[in-house]
Amino acid sequence: VDLSGFGLERIQHIGRGQYASAQLVRETATGQTFVAKCISLAALNEHDQDLAHQEVFLLQTLGHPYIVAYRDSFLIEGANTLVIVMEYCSGGDVRKAIKEKAKQGGYFSEEQIMTWFVQLCQALQYIHSEKVLHRDLKTSNIFLSEDGSIKLGDFGISRVLEGTTEAAVTIVGTPYYMSPEVCRSEPYNWKSDIWALGCVLYECCMLKHAFESSSLMGLVYKIVSDQYDPIPDIYSPDLNDLINQLLKKDAEHRPSINEIFAIPYVKAYLALQS
Ligand code: ADP
Ligand code: MG
Repeated sequence: VDLSGFGLERIQHIGRGQYASAQLVRETATGQTFVAKCISLAALNEHDQDLAHQEVFLLQTLGHPYIVAYRDSFLIEGANTLVIVMEYCSGGDVRKAIKEKAKQGGYFSEEQIMTWFVQLCQALQYIHSEKVLHRDLKTSNIFLSEDGSIKLGDFGISRVLEGTTEAAVTIVGTPYYMSPEVCRSEPYNWKSDIWALGCVLYECCMLKHAFESSSLMGLVYKIVSDQYDPIPDIYSPDLNDLINQLLKKDAEHRPSINEIFAIPYVKAYLALQS
């Protein structure tokens, strides 16, 4: 895809994800560096492509210290491609940090995990208050800044791909963070984001996914019916209990983002932040 007509120069390809390819770009006018995500909308008709763009356009108005800011977005009609220009996070993502930690041996300290967690909750509280569901919360969508704080990216994007066509709902990649209700084909909801939040918290403690299987059927079975392995006993009962709350199979029993902030253990870490 040629982005020069949109005032962007391509620097390099930085990766391919589930539904997008990510390019590092320079904005010609300002010299600033951004990431441009190119998402194929070929499976959607023209009307749904426009709706998808409108939806992403709304996300550009969101701004919070712990979310990746969306700068711009446009539709390249001939190419059936939606381009989303966003803040570039140079510090890597939490998925990578987890892999490195696992390779070195040892675990993240509870303080480190809870510092990330509280920031993540603040980011989620903000987008939920703006009536936006994340829908793709996972460790590879959480970036680390120079100062050690996190930035949550890719919120709301997967919604735009849920068009009417079958091709748009095909599962690509392994949906490790899929909630029990989504496994049962019930609608994605606020509590589904909370489930994914629990999966992220668990992964930070265990350095592996809460639910893993070599097949989609096996994974779905585990998510719906199985318990995860206990986290290492270096962590406090409070942290263990928090994970259990977030990973309640029944969505109604999971706390909302505001209820999470009412938990004294979480409150204590929030107080340390400011
Ligand atoms: P996924 O989230 O499914 O891994 P993405 O398409 O979101 O896939 O990202 C592809 C790659 O680009 C990943 O390695 C990710 O770390 C990187 N990336 C995505 N967004 C950004 C960003 N805003 N800043 C820096 N790197 C990014
Ligand atoms: Mg991503």
